[in-house]
Amino acid sequence: MDFENISPEFRDLVPPNSWVERLHTGMRWTEGPVWFADGQQLIFSDIPNDRMLRWVDGLGAGVFREPSGYSNGNTRDLQGRLVTCEHGQRRLTRTEPDGSVTVLVDRYQGRRLNSPNDVVVKSDGTIWFTDPPYGIIGNYEGYQARMELDGCYVFRLDPVSGELRVVTDRLTRPNGLAFSLDEKTLYVSDSARSHDPQGAHDILALSLSDDATARSQTLFASIEPGLADGFRLDAAGNVWTSAGDGVHCYAPSGKLLGKIHIPETVSNVVFGGRRLNRLFVTATTSVYSVYLAVCGAARPRSAPR
Ligand code: MG
Repeated sequence: MDFENISPEFRDLVPPNSWVERLHTGMRWTEGPVWFADGQQLIFSDIPNDRMLRWVDGLGAGVFREPSGYSNGNTRDLQGRLVTCEHGQRRLTRTEPDGSVTVLVDRYQGRRLNSPNDVVVKSDGTIWFTDPPYGIIGNYEGYQARMELDGCYVFRLDPVSGELRVVTDRLTRPNGLAFSLDEKTLYVSDSARSHDPQGAHDILALSLSDDATARSQTLFASIEPGLADGFRLDAAGNVWTSAGDGVHCYAPSGKLLGKIHIPETVSNVVFGGRRLNRLFVTATTSVYSVYLAVCGAARPRSAPR
């Protein structure tokens, strides 16, 4: 079966007759799904093939942007504009309504970023992203190059002032990230296990201080098998994360509730569909979807700063 109940609560989160469907295949390593409700379309990256694709409900998939600068994570800002992590140029970009691309940031204190990986937007409009070196360690997902920074940080960018701030430098390979519903906690995964069998495979919960730095850090969940490349929250605050055998669902307490089995290694997920109750899953060569009995957390809307 596609669903595995680990705790009884999981039954309330999945419809009894839902199943995993494969929507598109042929990618080399797909990641970075973002949902555009206005077009009923999913945009996602195919990193080694240096392109982004677009899947439209009822029409199927095609190329959205090629080359894509070896894009990885995607999200939308409060104005609905596409925000993209690019391994190739080691930068964060924004796609404007006229199709032009604006560079948001590519350096920290004069030194090039490693290779921005995943990105989220807070309700105050600030843009938070992770910067591991996966895009520069070889020529498969970008261009091989040396790290200029001393570590792999989680950053917060104020797109109005341009200020770039380090949220934390304590993770080895920061990767996926998402805010708790009240935005007081930032969940960030450490995926060091990807290249080190002894490395971290955890989601950390960072308690944020008023100046947007991490005040404290606690272990939220250790993912087994595999690792948490990317994840999203539902409207009840549960965390739906990638794992080696599919998608795992964790309660806000950190308790594992259940799993969705996916036949390929999962990289990331995003909620979409007409009622935000359809989970889209990027997994190695394919994109899958599954209807859930719970909706995704609402997208942040413009709030006073
Ligand atoms: Mg990632």
